Amino acid sequence: IGKYYSMMLRLRIPGGRISSDQFLKMLDMCDELGNSTMKITTRQTIQLHGILKQNLRPTIKRINDMALSTLAACGDVNRNIMCCPAKRNDSVHAELERLTDELTEAMAPKTPAYHQLWLSETDADGNVISDEKYMVSDGTPAEVIEPLYGATYLPRKFKMGLALPEDNCIDIYTQDIGLLAVVQDGKIVGYNVLVGGGMGTTPAKKDSFPALAKRMAFATPEQVVGVCQAVLKVQRDNGNREDRKLARMKYLVANWGIEKFRAEVEKYFGEPLADCTDDDVHGFDDHMGWQEQGDGKWSYGLNIENGRLYDDDKIQFKAGLRSICHRFKTEIRMTGHQSVIFTDIEDSDKDELIGLIKAAGIPTTEVTSTVRRWSMACVALPTCGLAITESERRLPSIIDKLEEPLAKLGLSGERFTIRMTGCPNGCARPYNADLALVGKAKNKYTVFAGGGWLGNRLAYVYKDLVPDDIVVDEMIGIFSAFKSHRQDGESVGDFCARVGQEDLEVLAAAAPRP
Ligand code: SF4
Repeated sequence: IGKYYSMMLRLRIPGGRISSDQFLKMLDMCDELGNSTMKITTRQTIQLHGILKQNLRPTIKRINDMALSTLAACGDVNRNIMCCPAKRNDSVHAELERLTDELTEAMAPKTPAYHQLWLSETDADGNVISDEKYMVSDGTPAEVIEPLYGATYLPRKFKMGLALPEDNCIDIYTQDIGLLAVVQDGKIVGYNVLVGGGMGTTPAKKDSFPALAKRMAFATPEQVVGVCQAVLKVQRDNGNREDRKLARMKYLVANWGIEKFRAEVEKYFGEPLADCTDDDVHGFDDHMGWQEQGDGKWSYGLNIENGRLYDDDKIQFKAGLRSICHRFKTEIRMTGHQSVIFTDIEDSDKDELIGLIKAAGIPTTEVTSTVRRWSMACVALPTCGLAITESERRLPSIIDKLEEPLAKLGLSGERFTIRMTGCPNGCARPYNADLALVGKAKNKYTVFAGGGWLGNRLAYVYKDLVPDDIVVDEMIGIFSAFKSHRQDGESVGDFCARVGQEDLEVLAAAAPRP
């Protein structure tokens, strides 16, 4: 008997929008073919873990049969496009969703190989039976099959997101391309195009770094798809193909500078672009709890800790979500903070929805502490092959130990982001959080401080190689210093950024503990 290989399968779900029926079928699949849990990711999509290699084809086929896809959810292509998941009865949100769908198609690879490999029929021996519609054309140049990606695809993965100035819930500054809608008189008149964000870094490689996107130019609604394709082509043709650690577009933007990068984009696009407007991010709504949609119906955002759906003796996330999907049959939207939003709930059904959540033992958003609600962790051990140490399995117990000291300090209502990853790749976007723990060695973390919930400032290294058993203490030290020395209106991240690493260390050591 050969080895059993266990795989992770990630879906592409633009803007995190999924029907109740599709969500139910995904829950069935995680039980039948996965490890019986389902992960809502930081990019508004779903990952199944523990899929055996021999089950990949039937699993991918079932996903496509339910009108979902795994195409371009991984690899050196444009990944799942993020978009504000709030359901609103207004033309601005409708247009953002429409553009997300259009871009998903416009930025997708066109190869028929995906269908040929994963979806075509096989004979009894598992051989692919030729199917005309899925065949790769013989001799057709790659550039013709793939006008956007050509023969070589991209040097590295590529990420995009769409946001509104008052609601940066998709973390626009961490994207390769961020489109910030410019709204005038209730209508989107164009987008400030941000380029070159990216979280991953490799500590051993001194010239690697996390980066926030830079504001490049303004694109009208008529220009925006073409501009995004031009940006992607500039990276395709000029990105670093020698060293994968330095291949993300952020390095090209940093090496060239934003002026040269923009000039090259304009060349590929074929005309000059206007400068960005002054519009920038100034708010972040996680869309948790009850929110009015504007059409007489309601949405309810339910915090899912670290996005992991499972059933155990205490909490039945899967059973609870199943009963909600069966009962309401409405659209579900996944947020960039690994949570879900139930949409289109009638006023008269609100109590019933909360009842179903409580019956499954799931904490409602109203009883979830602010620190837990604004935290997130990547997968890490045991299923991420790149993990150095724990993240998702560890963060809940860290939050447990922070809740009481925060209450004693009078900081329970304070909104700040704590993000944790099991390696420096940064899948939970730690480098722009108020506070972050990034796995550096087994049971050791780099503590970052000084980013912020708004997502437009990078954090700095507060302390490196902090042993797991003292990270809670280190964080309580920071909160204690914040309590004693904060200025009016300052958030945790603002405070850490203002005082800087050295002073923060001194203040944290001296501050009275709760
Ligand atoms: Fe894996 Fe590292 Fe990404 Fe976490 S940050 S999911 S450990 S690659």
